[in-house]
Amino acid sequence: SAKRKPAPIRRLEESVINRIAAGEIINRPSNALKELLENSLDAGATNISISVKDGGMKLLQIQDNGHGIRTEDLPLVCERFTTSKLKAYEDLSTIQTYGFRGEALASISHVSHLSITTKQADSECAYKANYADGKLVPAKPGGSCEPEPCAGNNGTILVAEDLFYNIPSRKSALKNSRDEYNRIFEVASRYAIHNAGVAFSCRKLGAPKTDLNTLQGATAITNIRQIFGAKIASSLVDIEHSDDHYAFRFKGLISSASHEMHKSVFLLFINHRLVDHTPIKRAVESLYTSVLPKASRPFVYLDLQIKPENVDVNVHPTKREVRFLNEDTIVAAITDCIHKKLMSTSSSKSISLQS
Ligand code: ADP
Ligand code: MG
Repeated sequence: SAKRKPAPIRRLEESVINRIAAGEIINRPSNALKELLENSLDAGATNISISVKDGGMKLLQIQDNGHGIRTEDLPLVCERFTTSKLKAYEDLSTIQTYGFRGEALASISHVSHLSITTKQADSECAYKANYADGKLVPAKPGGSCEPEPCAGNNGTILVAEDLFYNIPSRKSALKNSRDEYNRIFEVASRYAIHNAGVAFSCRKLGAPKTDLNTLQGATAITNIRQIFGAKIASSLVDIEHSDDHYAFRFKGLISSASHEMHKSVFLLFINHRLVDHTPIKRAVESLYTSVLPKASRPFVYLDLQIKPENVDVNVHPTKREVRFLNEDTIVAAITDCIHKKLMSTSSSKSISLQS
């Protein structure tokens, strides 16, 4: 049989490259939301409202009261690798912001119709700009690309519409808007717990009530009560541990052994990022299995801080997975601490029952 001839190698068009890259960073509405929430928090917002249409596929809007975007930066803000947060590679090890790669807004602009309205506190009016494929575009065909002055509150409103309109395969994979809305709600409520004190709200556009509504100055436990209910909130005990030698510390709120839930809830923040870390999750869940009665599940909220030099957040484009040094030591310290706490709370319970 004749060998087939190789096809010629061609350079992909820039727009195709960008769209493929964008699809890896933003793979569903809840990813986009996470990036946008992190930007609002980086901007020092104390109030963040989310509005959603069709699970975020039709519309995802985030309004914050942060420091806004400099008007002269608006032409640049959606280009790939433009950021106000990182200057040199070395800064990565000490960076205090969520963002640093300048890819989120660019990615969103490559897979949706994006508009940004922003006002700095010392500026007289807000400016509104529209974007496609990383660049400013006119609001209406034939119009000017220039950001337009308009009325607005201090802070920033981002509106992403028709997500994945130009990636049909992705769009058709995300048909269930209730599912997508639940993921959005999950991301929003977890950030609300971890950033207790910042007011968060989340609603379906046009719905009479908000599904999430935390208050400025609230505590984590108040927000947990609001989101997960009084029964779970009242069963929580706190843990805390620090280790100077390995340069990590953590605190958390965990359900005590006596409490029974039917679904496990695991909120893990590493250096303030909502992440998945399977070894920690497995270790904690198996510890609970050995302590809790059958069929009940833990609630665990862990706020783990590791010296930034020891953490690699660049494992995955969505930054959802992280790796860090001394993993075994840290996992053992977490399970140890939880184990001790569960033992002490269950024995004090049984003592108080006997007396
Ligand atoms: P990164 O967060 O990695 O810098 P992004 O693409 O998420 O990249 O954002 C690009 C830049 O846009 C940020 O560095 C920041 O200067 C600005 N920005 C984005 N969102 C906001 C916001 N909500 N408030 C103020 N500035 C913002
Ligand atoms: Mg960002």
